[in-house]
Amino acid sequence: MGTTLIVGAGAAGLAAAIFSKAGRTLVLEQLSQPARKLLATGGGRCNVTHSATIDELMATFGKRNRFVEPALSQFTPEDICELLSQNGVQTIVEEDGCIFPESGKATDIVGALYSAAEKNASFVYDCEVTELLVEDNHVVGVKTASGKVFNADKVIFCTGGKCRRALGSTGAAYEMLSKHGIKITPLMPALAPIFIKEKWLAELSGISCPNALLSAKGVEPLSGAILFTHTGVSGPAALAYSGQIASRFAKSKEPYILKLSYIADMLLQDWIDLFDSWRRPYGTSQVNNLLSKYLPKALAKALCKQAGLESDTIVAHFNRGMTERLAELCCGTKLTITGLGDWESAMVTHGGVSIKELDPFTLESKTIKGLYITGELVDVDAPCGGYNITWALASGKLAAEQ
Ligand SMILES: Cc1cc2nc3c(=O)[nH]c(=O)nc-3n(C[C@H](O)[C@H](O)[C@H](O)COP(=O)(O)OP(=O)(O)OC[C@H]3O[C@@H](n4cnc5c(N)ncnc54)[C@H](O)[C@@H]3O)c2cc1C
Repeated sequence: MGTTLIVGAGAAGLAAAIFSKAGRTLVLEQLSQPARKLLATGGGRCNVTHSATIDELMATFGKRNRFVEPALSQFTPEDICELLSQNGVQTIVEEDGCIFPESGKATDIVGALYSAAEKNASFVYDCEVTELLVEDNHVVGVKTASGKVFNADKVIFCTGGKCRRALGSTGAAYEMLSKHGIKITPLMPALAPIFIKEKWLAELSGISCPNALLSAKGVEPLSGAILFTHTGVSGPAALAYSGQIASRFAKSKEPYILKLSYIADMLLQDWIDLFDSWRRPYGTSQVNNLLSKYLPKALAKALCKQAGLESDTIVAHFNRGMTERLAELCCGTKLTITGLGDWESAMVTHGGVSIKELDPFTLESKTIKGLYITGELVDVDAPCGGYNITWALASGKLAAEQ
């Protein structure tokens, strides 16, 4: 039973530390505290996992579904909640299946994982690993920025991806590993907001629509929750869609348009029928007040304004032209995309260590014995919903138990 080094004390690194079977386990973390990124997750609440079945979980990883199966099936969402509970943190399942700490505090998740990890591993902070040391295709240790060498017969890389430098993700590990011939697939920021040209949208900052539909030329529409920001659109569906439209947007020679429908199931005719149904009973009511029974008030007002209505236009004065313009806006506001979020606004890294480099049953490198790679550093990512942290925790555990 030799020494295991875990590089990085994020989600994957803490799980690896908890489940390490080595005689001596050392966690080397470049920042001065563990899991800075986890503290920022879920808006400070940490959507730690999801109540989905294993098949549903796997499906969220797209073509990587088979690769993630061994890790996810050995550390299920129930197991994650059980581990947290054993360490004093109860969880709640929200309506959409997302699981959060009952306290609503990401600090509690980090506290629970860290206190479990501390029992099994020692932590070294302000310790940036800069080099992986390999002899005869077997890891022998790592070198740090201060020049210190740590020897080990097993090294688990848990350094995360490339987005949000301040939270510890510099992307330096990709270079460290590729120097040893490990293949890295192209890296792209994912789960990033969509920036929009139209200035009137900024007034809606903070407003969300739980069941919107996003569509853009050449890309399958996607429904889900969106959130307006002062620069454009965010929220789970927009974050996921930005990844799907990225290459089309980059190649488009014309302005690339995002169409927003605020209630996914309502088509143009449904809105026209709704507005027509107001004519008899609500002749003296203001259109924007009636619309705000279906959409957030500020959005209803803004759409009425965009459709050319006055703020006090009543149904009796709501003519055919206005009706059609407002219906078109409700199910297809056209917005000009000016950009997609970069590394500093994205939530995860798309791309990374090629899954072909790793044995999915152990997460050991196929070419360097004793080297294990986990979490966001691997070319594995999923939409919002707690899936990315689930993968980080499950992959850290799988690698540690070998
Ligand atoms: C704002 C935000 C919100 C998010 N919300 C959610 C959410 O609610 N649910 C969800 O599932 N996912 C969420 N994610 C994604 C999720 O946080 C990541 O997928 C997950 O943290 C990845 O875990 P990891 O352990 O692989 O990497 P990280 O958690 O990034 O940890 C990597 C650690 O390694 C350290 N490190 C890096 N390089 C070195 C080095 N050379 N030497 C030593 N240490 C090093 C870093 O400092 C860091 O502590 C969110 C991401 C962001 C940015």
